[in-house]
Amino acid sequence: MGNTDTGCKVAFVGSECYPFVKTGGLGDVMYALPRALIREGCECRVILPLYACIKEQYKQQMKYIGSFMMDQTMEGRTFYVGIMELEMDGVTYDFIDNREFFDWGNPYTGLWEDIPKYCYFSKASLAALNYMEWYPDVIHCHDWQAALVPLYLKTKFWNCGLKKSKSMLTIHNLRFQGICGIEHLKYWSGLSDGLFDYPVLKYNEDEANMFKGGLAYADAITTVSATYAKEIQTPEFGEHLDAHLRYHAPRMRGIVNGIDTEIWDSSKDKLLAAPYDVSNVLEKKWENKEALREQLGLSRADGGKMMFGLVSRLTDQKGLDLVDAIMTRIMDGNTQVIVLGTGDPRYENAFRYYEDKYRGDVCAYISYNEALAHRIYAGTDAFLVPSLFEPCGLTQLIAMRYGTVPVVRETGGLKDTVLPYNAETGEGNGFTFTQYNPDSLLQAVNDAKTLFFTERQKWDAMVKRDMEKDVSWEQSAKQYLDFYRELMA
Ligand code: ADP
Repeated sequence: MGNTDTGCKVAFVGSECYPFVKTGGLGDVMYALPRALIREGCECRVILPLYACIKEQYKQQMKYIGSFMMDQTMEGRTFYVGIMELEMDGVTYDFIDNREFFDWGNPYTGLWEDIPKYCYFSKASLAALNYMEWYPDVIHCHDWQAALVPLYLKTKFWNCGLKKSKSMLTIHNLRFQGICGIEHLKYWSGLSDGLFDYPVLKYNEDEANMFKGGLAYADAITTVSATYAKEIQTPEFGEHLDAHLRYHAPRMRGIVNGIDTEIWDSSKDKLLAAPYDVSNVLEKKWENKEALREQLGLSRADGGKMMFGLVSRLTDQKGLDLVDAIMTRIMDGNTQVIVLGTGDPRYENAFRYYEDKYRGDVCAYISYNEALAHRIYAGTDAFLVPSLFEPCGLTQLIAMRYGTVPVVRETGGLKDTVLPYNAETGEGNGFTFTQYNPDSLLQAVNDAKTLFFTERQKWDAMVKRDMEKDVSWEQSAKQYLDFYRELMA
């Protein structure tokens, strides 16, 4: 148990949070970080939209806290703000209720509708805190959807109970910034003309950028790994905001994500055919692998095949063009590949094609499926994460936790969390490559195969080392807490 005298009150504001709504790593972080901070003695609230797509079982547990009307837009139109609350394991979740904005999408719709939705949500989050008279030391905002919070805090809310609250904005993925026509954002945000200038919201002659404005106004900026914090200050990774980020870099820090080690606990994971820990991983992984083959209809004729897993959004970011380019060279009769993901039809169709071509050895499961993801992390031998860029990446952390050796590109958090295997010293957690090209990925895959098939003892030692690596939130939560305290001082 950590120190309980910190008195640090933190409100999290973001667009998704497991288990209510999750499309990627942001949802995991919004779930796990508040829990880790509570263990460090913090008080945490998480503010989320009450999307229609949230499961009924959660909606039924919510209680009504209150409601009020809030002015939004340049014309001062008023909108209903309801607050529904639910408590889970010491964290309070406040859901902002407004059916006009949150009845569509899964949870996102399209940028044109999402911009008004998240303008409203950012302002309503602060209005809700004010209404509840819960004044946090730090309002920790996540990604572009919550990026207007620092601006509202320093303008519309400068003279209320929130005036002492500091804002922190975390970049989970700089690719998505909330860019739209200046007039569209001016109208929906209701923010004053003065903020639509180049140092803040103005992006180019015609467009405004919500993330850019938030980064300018936040008291502190973080991103989810030290390497990504450096990368985004370069034109290659900066998504056209590199100069802006270099300017604001003195307020920016990189803190790597962890994973929730209660959700991702192979010894208690009820979704697995054979739960295991580091003492029996080798035999149990075998059982999980066989069960996975059975479930997915993969061939069991030759049990000695090496199995690669890939669980991902199927988008350009994830390096899937490299996988596509080497699939025919990976499939050598001794290899099986399982892909779980949805996204760009180009990749969905490519993997369906390989499933057909290598029937029995390739499975393309084009879907979002939490339970299957657990079984893939447990049942595969190696795990592919060849991303073009990766702010932190959680799948390589989960894979290691489950004793599955990652094969990753050395970028962002992948570089910070996977130490390359060193044949001389026998150290390392996985196989890595640096240049973004198919041959480099193939080399890393082949190195993994060579160790797996020819030096199994060394492979097995790496499996155990990976399971014992600390990928929990504890260290990272402490770093966030230090940063909060610096802001409060
Ligand atoms: P990103 O946030 O860029 O999507 P991360 O690696 O940070 O990538 O987080 C991805 C999270 O989403 C992981 O928890 C991963 O297991 C999960 N995930 C991704 N795709 C799927 C899927 N098709 N089915 C189940 N879980 C998925």
